[in-house]
Parts: sequence; structure tokens; C-alpha cells
Amino acid sequence: MWVRPYRHFVRGDVQVESFNTYVDEQTDRFLEELQALCRQPSVAAQDWGIDEMADIVTERLRRLGADTRLIATEGAPPVVFAELGDGPKTLVIYNHYDVQPPEPLELWETEPFEPAIREGKLYARGVSDNKGSMLARIQAVETWLETVSDLPLKIQWVIEGEEETGSVHLDQWVDENRALVEDADGCLWEFGYKDIAERPVINLGLKGIYYVELRTRGASRDLHSSLASIVPNPAWRLTWALSTLKDADDRILIDGYMDHVADPPPAAVELMEKMPFEEERLKEDFDIPAFIRDLSGMELLKKHLYEPTCTICGVESGYTGQGSKTVLPNAAMAKVDFRLVHDLTPELAHDLLRRHLDRRGFDDVEIIDWGGEHPSQTDPDAPVVQAAIDALEATYGQEPVVWPTSAGSGPMYPLCEGLGIPAVSFGVGYSGSNVHAPNENIRLQDYVEGIKCMGEFIRRFADSG
Ligand SMILES: [Zn+2]
Repeated sequence: MWVRPYRHFVRGDVQVESFNTYVDEQTDRFLEELQALCRQPSVAAQDWGIDEMADIVTERLRRLGADTRLIATEGAPPVVFAELGDGPKTLVIYNHYDVQPPEPLELWETEPFEPAIREGKLYARGVSDNKGSMLARIQAVETWLETVSDLPLKIQWVIEGEEETGSVHLDQWVDENRALVEDADGCLWEFGYKDIAERPVINLGLKGIYYVELRTRGASRDLHSSLASIVPNPAWRLTWALSTLKDADDRILIDGYMDHVADPPPAAVELMEKMPFEEERLKEDFDIPAFIRDLSGMELLKKHLYEPTCTICGVESGYTGQGSKTVLPNAAMAKVDFRLVHDLTPELAHDLLRRHLDRRGFDDVEIIDWGGEHPSQTDPDAPVVQAAIDALEATYGQEPVVWPTSAGSGPMYPLCEGLGIPAVSFGVGYSGSNVHAPNENIRLQDYVEGIKCMGEFIRRFADSG
């Protein structure tokens, strides 16, 4: 395998060289270890292999020499917590050992839990999200201990087992174990990737999310549709309720909702101005003629990263099979998610939605909460961010693209912003990783570079001001 040579030896050339040589020499074993990790299913949504995976991760961290234990929270898979090293700085590494369900199985070229290497890529469910990044970091620490010396900082791993089902209990875990992690100086978040133009990416935040099911009910049972002349139709009722949430220009109309949204801070605008965003390639890839409202440039980016969403994820009512069936349904349901920004929290989103519907006479529309997460932000000037930028630049020989936040969501708020810990993320994925989809994969070269990048990051973060 061809491995990109190092461009910069900022200091400690010999150490960097022996670190990288060790990684190159151990590449086959490292990759075998990654395949073994991916062979173990660990699907949180299906409660499949979760305990077994927690044990494998615990065992691996113990072999590294880390003080490792499983810390349970009621109703949740245990969190693997481990500590190793000592120094003026403490780094929390957040990962998850669960993965998304592998379905639809027929679209996989090889079995999702039988890792396969083809054309320089390793295919398996969870290899990019996020077993690859999780293990690369552990193997980087092993390499450090073997080739440099003791760790120059304290690392604390928090590896949970229900990220893919919304990290429902992580807030509670942090509440119960806050003393363990609250003094950390920075957090390395779970994922990371190279973008479509092969630029390494760093993310500094996440949107929040609030997920609901909206339900309407009609007659006691489905009826002949001739009765639609006199019996209310819950499918129409739900449609009318939904239509009050957003207009045809994609503006969210929920009363008071947009009052909680602010312009991006100047530092974020500065980063966005430097962010290459491949609009044309994305449109081609998605096969759409234009983005919403025909937006482009800075306006498009601002909407993508700094505005909330209100998305109908699915609707169900009545008959949707082949041919026609004249039926008046007795119930209707929509799944709706809201990506949250600024000070829009799941609790606030719920209250605003309830009041908005009630005010319009839709107090019969039932809201079933499926959980949520607060938005979270990191200050771009935090030392952990600069250490990451420098590490990526040294590894990849080019300036990374820094996203001031990301359009996705995760439990960053309770573990990081809520404790005052700045978080940064980078990892071993790429734009073709098919995360959450069939044929998930990473490129072997990205994996090897990811381990080396972690070595650079440890050194720089330990030395940072
Ligand atoms: Zn995921």
C-alpha cells in the first residue's frame, strides 16, 4: 500500500518517524483487528450484540494498559470508560460501539458483518460510523506507547452503546458521572472524513434535534369512503395541521420558532467564507435542479448550518397498496424531525409546537415525543481546535476545511458544551463511506493516515497553551 510521506516535521522528527514506521509495520495487524471488531454485530436498534461489543472494547482498552470499566446507567447499554496517561492536559475521546441496522441486506455486495477488502477499501457495517475512528485512536495510543514514551497527557475514553438510537441516556450518564470528566480540556468527537474534493474536514459543533410522531384519529374504524361526505377524515386533518408548520418557500411558520434563531457569529462566517462547498457536484449527485429557494453561496451555507429544519420524515394513513381501495381511514400519522440551532432546545420546540397547534384548533393532534438533543457549539479559538488543525495539516500536507458546525446531530451538548469542554472532530471516513447505508466502507489508506494523524494530534494537544 502506498502511504503519503510526511511533509512537516515540526519537532521531534525522530519520534514522528519511529511512530510512523511502527504504524506501517503493524498495518496488517491493525487492519485485522479492525475487521474483527466489525465482525461483531452491535446494532442498538435491534439489541443485537451490544453486550458482546462492550466487552470487546473493554478488553482492547485493558490490553492498552488503560484503567477500564463498564459504567451502567439504568435502562441503557453500559458506557465503556477508560483512563490512561498523565500530563497537564486531559483529552476526552468520545466514540460509540453500536452501529446502524444493516438493512436493506439485498443491497450489500458482501455481508455487512463479514468484513471484506476490495480495491483498497474495507467494507462492513459500522466501519466508518464509527468503529474505524474508534480503533484508529486506540492503535495510535498503542503506537505512541511503543515508540515514543508514556502519554504526555491524560486520555479519557467515553464509549457509549446507543448513539445510533439517539443517545437517550447519555445526559443521565453525564449527570451521574460528571466528576469523572468535567475537568477535561478538550474532547475529540466520534467521526471525521475527507470531503468530495479530498480535503480533510474538522467539525466544531452539531445541530440539535427533536423528533415527534403526530397522530390524528377519526371514526372508531376504517369506513366505506362514501361516508366521507359526513364523517371527518383524519388524513385530511393531519394534512391541514402539517400545512400550518411550513410554507411553500420552506419557511418555518411555527409561532415564535424563528425568534430563537440568530445569525451565525462573525468567527463562523469567517470560516464559512473559507469553506469550499461543492454546490454543483452536490446537485448532480442528488439529481436535483436547484437547492431550496434556488439558494447558493453564503446564503445556502447559512441556511444549511445555522437554520433549523422541520422535516416530514414519513406519513402513513389508509390504503397505499396496489390499485384502488375506496376507504375512509380512521387514523393518520406523520413522523417529523426538527434540526435545532442556537437556543432552540427539544423542550422549547415541543412547547412551541403544542401551542402553535392548539392556537389553530388542532388540540386533537397528538404529539408523541421520540426524544431530542440540544445543539452544541465549540469556540473556534479553543486550543484543541488549533491542535487538530495543525495535526491534519502535518498529516495530509494541506490545510483542513473547518466547518464551524455541522448539519447533523449528536449528544455533544451534555458531554461537552454543558461541561464547558470544547469539542473537535476528525476521523478516517471519506465522502463515499456510505454511512448508515449499504456497502459502508473506508479506504485503507485513510485508515493508516488517520492513525498517524492521531499521533500528531496527541503531541500538539499535549503541548498546547
Ligand atoms: Zn451514525
